[in-house]
Amino acid sequence: MKLSGRESLAGTGILLSLVAGGQARSRADLTSLSGLSRNTIVSRLKALLDAGLLREAEETMRSGGRPTRMLAIGSDFGVILAADIGETSVRLAVTDLTPAVIVDEMFDVELAAGPEVVLGAIAERFANLLGRCGRSLGEAIGIGLSLPAPVDYASGRVFGPSIMTNWDDFDIRTWLQDRLGVPVLGENDVNLLTLYEWRTFWQDVGHLFFIKFASGIGSGIISDGRIYRGAQGAAGDIGHIQLASEPKPLCRCGKLGCVEARAAGWALARDLRAQGVSVRGSRDVVRLVHGGHGAALEAARKAGQVLGEVTADVVSVLNPGIIVIGGTLAAMGSPLFEEVDQVVRERVLPLAKRDLRIEPARSGGDAGLLGAALLVKEVRLSAADVEATIARFAANA
Ligand SMILES: [Zn+2]
Repeated sequence: MKLSGRESLAGTGILLSLVAGGQARSRADLTSLSGLSRNTIVSRLKALLDAGLLREAEETMRSGGRPTRMLAIGSDFGVILAADIGETSVRLAVTDLTPAVIVDEMFDVELAAGPEVVLGAIAERFANLLGRCGRSLGEAIGIGLSLPAPVDYASGRVFGPSIMTNWDDFDIRTWLQDRLGVPVLGENDVNLLTLYEWRTFWQDVGHLFFIKFASGIGSGIISDGRIYRGAQGAAGDIGHIQLASEPKPLCRCGKLGCVEARAAGWALARDLRAQGVSVRGSRDVVRLVHGGHGAALEAARKAGQVLGEVTADVVSVLNPGIIVIGGTLAAMGSPLFEEVDQVVRERVLPLAKRDLRIEPARSGGDAGLLGAALLVKEVRLSAADVEATIARFAANA
């Protein structure tokens, strides 16, 4: 079956995007959400199922009862290329459309070598990875990049200050797209962690605030089921909010009293070293907290107060249904979470905290990589892009 003519595409895009975006899981959902007639849905659905773009499987709902036929994206219809770019290494993967990793690899990079060197290596390795799993660039619906820097999402460029110092203003998307002939999306790493965590574990909560608490501190916002980026993509940068209380330690950004300078992994390690405790970074701090080390427990509580203070302000502005804390230092556990919880509940008004939950993140180390793949899936199969994606697939079939 071919999905190439305009005629046959009419209506298929909206059905596919409703399933890809997680809004529709059954024929009944499509009927109520698509605005299409029952007959149109039956014929378009048949085309999508025959082409392998959608699949339908019997599932028993958690509530029990008779098995229902549930719709999902056909995970083998195309592949996604995902890259999680870190400070010293890059993890690459070819994923299916679940997204689940088919093949992956990790290699060391020096980001300071500049975008052309790093992206060139990524392009070459993507081609090799596709070869390893017997797939082609023509089957890739998109490339997703997780970038450890503030990202202007609309233009696909990073803006300092960050560890990607000489990448500022480089047109990452166009450069890689021209090289591989596959559409490229670049996004800030914390936004991708947020997207993956929300979509995988908390999708029923429409408003989520995610804090990455590690050697740096950042946050991501899901508002009404979408990433909230603000005007330039800078929304959620809580690490460099400056708090008034004294003393005001110097931050890596050059300002005084930032949240990071008070509570990030490097700041906690700095404070512990000043007390004669031997620590290198975040993992050592977590280990000491677990071991009941007095100074480390005190540092965890102090960090909890700082995070609680800034989170309370965020809650007052955004009214999230859930706050999720992830990153290396979230593993400090109850000394941290109790403090955040207490400060937030002291400071915000009753309505905002009535049903508010504060939870540790559930995602593992793959979340950045899979978040990049998930972004590609959701954008390339969205109502706006899905017909172009299907046309690209039909042209390569
Ligand atoms: Zn700062």
